[in-house]
Amino acid sequence: MPSMTIAENIAAVRARMARAAQRCGRDPAEVALVAVSKTHPAEMVRQACQAGVTTVGENYIQEARDKIAALADCPLSWHFIGHLQSNKAKYAVDLFDLIHGVDSLKLAREIDKQAAKFGKIQPILIQVNISGEATKSGTTEEAALALVLEAGRLEHLQVRGLMTMPPFFDQPERARPYFAALRRLRDRIRAEAIAGVDMAELSMGMTGDFEVAIEEGATLVRIGTAIFGPRE
Ligand SMILES: *Cc1c(COP(=O)(O)O)cnc(C)c1O
Repeated sequence: MPSMTIAENIAAVRARMARAAQRCGRDPAEVALVAVSKTHPAEMVRQACQAGVTTVGENYIQEARDKIAALADCPLSWHFIGHLQSNKAKYAVDLFDLIHGVDSLKLAREIDKQAAKFGKIQPILIQVNISGEATKSGTTEEAALALVLEAGRLEHLQVRGLMTMPPFFDQPERARPYFAALRRLRDRIRAEAIAGVDMAELSMGMTGDFEVAIEEGATLVRIGTAIFGPRE
């Protein structure tokens, strides 16, 4: 395979995203691309930005802080998609427009407290361990509604939806039931019409399975490898 530029990779990903949306009668504009740049240098993120990427996902606070500083001149929205420890919440609130992986009331409270100090309402997603795998973070499906209710009461948080990581499969079709389950859970929670909670977003789908995730309702796909190449 000839080596592709980041701009070419992004164009190919966007075309695949649009086709997946169209296949199931969705407007491609409903699905946003989060370019996941963990382990890749700021220079590559700059190229992505020049190729029209507007949203970048990072997993580690220190790494993100350096890149955000190096790319201050790029009009990018930064999302935290990693596992956030409570003692790092203040940095996450300072740096990120959306925190995808909130999976406990303790963490939600800490983010709320830090957001209050920044005078910010912090948008968050609740991470759900929809497969129940012991190695995955996320609240259980059963506990998700209670967590959304509690987090929704915190004044400096805005719950915008749910996020999940299904098990890894070679065949993306096998991830479909997990994506569908997250969507149904989102719909159930949305039907509760909880004050301060909008539930618009479903963050699901990565390089190996984003098309299936879009078919099942993803509004945010988190794609690293297909844009930046393999990680070390
Ligand atoms: C690394 C990462 C991704 C991107 O994975 P790819 O398979 O490289 O697209 C997406 N989501 C999360 C939470 C990640 O940690």
